[in-house]
Parts: sequence; structure tokens; C-alpha cells
Amino acid sequence: DQDRNVRVRFAPSPTGGLHLGGVRTALFNYLFAKQHGGTFVLRIEDTDQTRFVPGAEAYIQDCLRWCGIEPDESPIHGGEHGPYRQSERKANYRAYAEQLVANGYAYYAFDTAEQLDAQRAAHPNFKYSHENRQQLRNSLSLPADETERLLAEGHPHVIRIKMPVGETIGFEDLIRGMVSFDSSLVDDKVLLKADGMPTYHLAVVVDDYVMAITHVFRGEEWLPSAPVHILLWEYLGWRHAMPKWAHLPLILKPDGNGKLSKRDGDRLGFPVYAMNWLDPQTGILTKGFREMGFLPEAFVNMLALLGWNDGTDQEIFTRDEL
Ligand code: GLU
Repeated sequence: DQDRNVRVRFAPSPTGGLHLGGVRTALFNYLFAKQHGGTFVLRIEDTDQTRFVPGAEAYIQDCLRWCGIEPDESPIHGGEHGPYRQSERKANYRAYAEQLVANGYAYYAFDTAEQLDAQRAAHPNFKYSHENRQQLRNSLSLPADETERLLAEGHPHVIRIKMPVGETIGFEDLIRGMVSFDSSLVDDKVLLKADGMPTYHLAVVVDDYVMAITHVFRGEEWLPSAPVHILLWEYLGWRHAMPKWAHLPLILKPDGNGKLSKRDGDRLGFPVYAMNWLDPQTGILTKGFREMGFLPEAFVNMLALLGWNDGTDQEIFTRDEL
């Protein structure tokens, strides 16, 4: 079952320690690549500069190395599709955002943070959506010459996707089967921020395309973003190349109520991070499996069996068996 064209990626944001859910996502991608003789890419998604934490990228790389989940292409290993840090690919994204505007799939929005806060205060469920686009300050509500003037004068603006009204957007998830969304319920997500940085939505689609990613295993928390991504694949003319997605069920709290958090770990006395993480901003140390004395083979075996079973009673798997 060799398919050298299989290309998967683990795409963490360097915002802190690596939660065991993140390692599990990396592991599933890695094992799938190895099974198919394909390529496993590590891409650092660092476009949100407000959440960037120094040291987190090196920590993620160390965790993967400790677990034996070595990428084939990454910021350190290089590769023809790099650079593998989104902040170093910034110039790539604006042109795509502008192409979407030119083709009528996206638009400029000039609302200031204060104006949007006032909207949120007045309407608790405020969304930037087709229902109120006309009341906001954007190129769909302003006359063309006013928009031209604001752009020419360099007024801060973002680019937002124009979500269609009343369309069903669907795809075949490798785990859940057919999943569909009502486009009217999704708001007009920002694609390009005022500082020229792309948001996650734009960057993830552009990079999955440019890096020729064929399959994406990611946590279920990204399922609500799927309709935005599908439209971007379509609007950019790439629908034929869209990867197959598998949204993995999350690792939950013991009572099944929500995602297992660092706080749950503290309360119950078990680690939820792969390795010790000393937060440089707060000085708080979060304990990891490595320092608790777990062997990486045991840690990886435990993660592989969370939500997966090969149909037998076997509990211990070698890397090759996995
Ligand atoms: N950067 C996202 C994260 O931090 C990646 C989500 C995805 O895999 O599309 O998990």
C-alpha cells in the first residue's frame, strides 16, 4: 500500500506546551505517512502574533523527537515546499486574499475595533454576517468611490470572506462520513488582518494547497471551520486538490464533559503535556510525561490506543506494528 504522494502535516501554533491531544494528532498523521511511504510535514502556524510564546516552537520539536515522531520536512529539516513557518511566508497570502476580493468572494471591511465592540455590546450574539453586512463599514455597504478613498488613504482594514446565504456546504469526513453545514450560520471570517498577516483560515488553506497536502488528521474542534475552508478551496479554484479530512474525537475530561485541560491534570495529579513546560511569561511549570518517568514507547502506545483499536486484545504495539 505504498503511495509516495501521500503528504500529511502537523500544524501546531507555538502558543505553549504540547498537550497530549496535540501529540496524538501528530502521531496519527505520522503513522499514516509511514504506512503509505509518504511524507510527514511539520508546519509552524505562527501568524497570530498576540499568542506567540517564545520557546514554544523548540519545545514542540523536542517533544516530537522524544516521541520518535520525526518530520520529513520542517523548519529544521527544510524541503522544497518551505519555509515551514507561516510568519516567513507572509508575502504569499495577501495576493490570494486580493484575488478573492477581485472575484467577488471576499471584501474589505473598515470597521474599527471600537465600532465592533459597540456592536457586540448592543447585540450579544453579534456576528459579521449577511444579516448585518449592510449596517457595517465595508466595501459591500459603502459606495465604490468611498471604498477607493479609504484604501488610497491607507485606512486600516481587514479582508473578510463573503459567506453565501442558504447554501449547503458538505464534505465526506474519513471518520464521520458526510458532514454538511448551512452557510447562513457561518459568519464572514477575517482572512487577512489589518497588519497584513493572514488568519488561520486563509493560511491553512493556502499552505495545504502549496504544500500538496493529501490528508489532514486534526482535532474535532476544527470541524466548525471546515465550511470556511471548503469555500476557500473552491473560490481559489483548487477544489480538485482539496485534502481528505479526518476530524479526530478529542481527548475528554474524565466525566466526558469537554476537552481535557491542564487544570484537570493538576487536579487529578496526572500530566497532560508531553514534557515539562515552563511558561516564560507566567513562570508556571506544567509537568510532562517525560519527567514523570514514562518511556516514550509507553506514552506513544497509550496515545495510539485512545480512540483506536485493531479489533484484537493486543495492548502493546511496536512502532512498526502501529
Ligand atoms: N494551527 C492549528 C492548531 O493549532 C492547526 C489546525 C489544523 O490542523 O488545521 O491546531
